[in-house]
Amino acid sequence: MHDSSPSFVRGWLAERQDRGLLRRLRRASPVASSARFVHDGRQGISFASNDYLGLAHHPALVEALIEGAKIWGVGAGSSALVGGYTEAHAVLESELAAFLGFPAARVFTSGYAANLAVITAFAREAPTAIFADKLVHASLVDALQLARAGGAKVRRYPHGNLSFLGQWLEKSREPVKLVVTDGVFSMDGDIAPLSALSELARAHGAWLIVDDAHGFGILGPAGQGSFADAGLTPQSHWLWVVTFGKALGAMGAAVLGAEEAMLWLDQAARTHIYTTAMPPALAHAVHTALQLVREETTRRDRLAALIHHWRQGVARLPAIEVIHAPEPPESSSSALPRLPFSRTPIQPLILGSPGQTLAIEQALAQAGFFVPAIRPPTVPEGSARLRFSLCADHGEAELDALLEVLSPIFQQFPTADK
Ligand code: PMP
Repeated sequence: MHDSSPSFVRGWLAERQDRGLLRRLRRASPVASSARFVHDGRQGISFASNDYLGLAHHPALVEALIEGAKIWGVGAGSSALVGGYTEAHAVLESELAAFLGFPAARVFTSGYAANLAVITAFAREAPTAIFADKLVHASLVDALQLARAGGAKVRRYPHGNLSFLGQWLEKSREPVKLVVTDGVFSMDGDIAPLSALSELARAHGAWLIVDDAHGFGILGPAGQGSFADAGLTPQSHWLWVVTFGKALGAMGAAVLGAEEAMLWLDQAARTHIYTTAMPPALAHAVHTALQLVREETTRRDRLAALIHHWRQGVARLPAIEVIHAPEPPESSSSALPRLPFSRTPIQPLILGSPGQTLAIEQALAQAGFFVPAIRPPTVPEGSARLRFSLCADHGEAELDALLEVLSPIFQQFPTADK
């Protein structure tokens, strides 16, 4: 079995290092925009932030946080149900519900907590069958593990493949069924087939649970997220998770759904009941972020133009496979770096080998660009990638400068075996 702890840890780390999989924290110094970085005195353009609209440094948001702290103090002081729930939370919840078109909302301290809450609450209270996309976010993967440990039946369908899902739902006899997906997949940037998923779930009496961390604030005509992008309106069998740490430039999350479902979360959601409530000052600030999302529509327009510019630029690079339309799952076997189809600010280049991806990350950093290497286990084996996150604060000239250094760097570190 395992060594005693210290040598086990040493060996484990050494093995990670050998495989190009060791993760290291980088200490950032203050910058004026999420599109910039300063690490250990080295500075440049960052493509690592999910602050897609550039709101984290917006003066109105900064002011709102200061104002919120003056009104409410810094911490909530207790969990929501014990006394930490304030007018600031209630206002944010009702504004969110109205903006997205759901009856009600509950605020959570993070998307991670919200995902754990929704999935495990069901699994603990009733015999539950859960069907989740293979590529859902790690927080949902953990929620599924907890649910399984609590007796739920959990199955993962191949990414976007609804024929499996249909068959499994058909056979399932559990009184509670959950269909679980990301709205926008965080490492690929593609969008779930929500219309078909919602229809399938409804037809089989299942809930549809969507983590729209990366769609909220970005997609749809007004930024409501991936359902609006698909031309859908909220339905009674949906539970919708949005987060505030990405397009809203803040931190925290909310679950949206029926009034009754929210009251039920108050009883059954442990990451809501047993944790200190979100600071009311932050709820106050997130309310301002929501107003900025609604009012400063030019940020979304800029982002859309940058996404277009980026994809055109990548398509002009030599020896890159560009996917121009949604593709059938797992259809490529090309050895070239691959740009998957994505209409979102998440624009990965899939390389395959973790060592090669890390070497390219380092070479890009030398050239003044911070683009994170994403490696297994965050993404499946053989699909290590550079994850370029575009942000409304980027300039087209900055994208062009990055595109210019990409080709020579790719040539310097040629494709290794996946
Ligand atoms: N879901 C997705 C798809 C995410 O990308 C993330 C964050 N990376 C989360 C949930 C977790 O959200 P939070 O950071 O608010 O915990």
